[in-house]
Amino acid sequence: MNAAFFASWIEEIIRTVHVERDRLTRLDAAVGDADHGANLDRGFAAVAPVLAAKQPDTTGALLKQVGDTLIRNVGGASGPLYGMAFREMGKVLGDTPDVSVAELCTALRAGLAGIQKLGAAVEGDKTLVDALIPAIRALEQAVRDGVKQQEAIAAAAAAALAGAEATIPMLARKGRASYLGPRSVGHEDPGAASTALIFAALNTVATR
Ligand code: ADP
Ligand code: MG
Ligand code: MG
Repeated sequence: MNAAFFASWIEEIIRTVHVERDRLTRLDAAVGDADHGANLDRGFAAVAPVLAAKQPDTTGALLKQVGDTLIRNVGGASGPLYGMAFREMGKVLGDTPDVSVAELCTALRAGLAGIQKLGAAVEGDKTLVDALIPAIRALEQAVRDGVKQQEAIAAAAAAALAGAEATIPMLARKGRASYLGPRSVGHEDPGAASTALIFAALNTVATR
């Protein structure tokens, strides 16, 4: 996966976040303040002109630009969290010309560590971490099994989606949803849903 592959991934995220904006906002209306779709759409829409102005020539520089732009343009909790994740991934990938699935795992682990350093959420707290961790695990398992890249990424996307759905019965312990206490049960976490979208976008690009 070269810098152009990662640029296509980001373009696909920008597109799908825009398409799914209202669904993400509806999920956030149930457990938060009804802005998750709007927050992410604003943040990712701001990425497009930044990349158009100066297309970064390494994956590291690209992901750093994405992270910085999200942090600058998203007011909600998700901006700094996703922003940090993309920045940390960029640091790990740097100028690697052709990223392997194993290297992508290492980068995603660094992104997760950044998210947890900032937000202190663990698995089961009903956050985007509950979609991210299963996706990384599936990708790591695929590396151990020696399956081809496309299949590995498809497994990660499926695991992220299952992880997001598995947040429905959870009680929120982090973020705004935690203010609802037991009333947070029975709703999918909006951030977990957007993480599933980000992996679905990766899968779309990997299947091309
Ligand atoms: P805000 O809650 O500030 O309005 P968003 O609606 O954009 O921000 O994002 C909400 C999402 O952010 C939640 O659904 C959850 O997945 C994620 N989130 C919130 N707090 C944390 C945290 N401490 N750690 C990880 N993810 C979090
Ligand atoms: Mg919100
Ligand atoms: Mg908000």
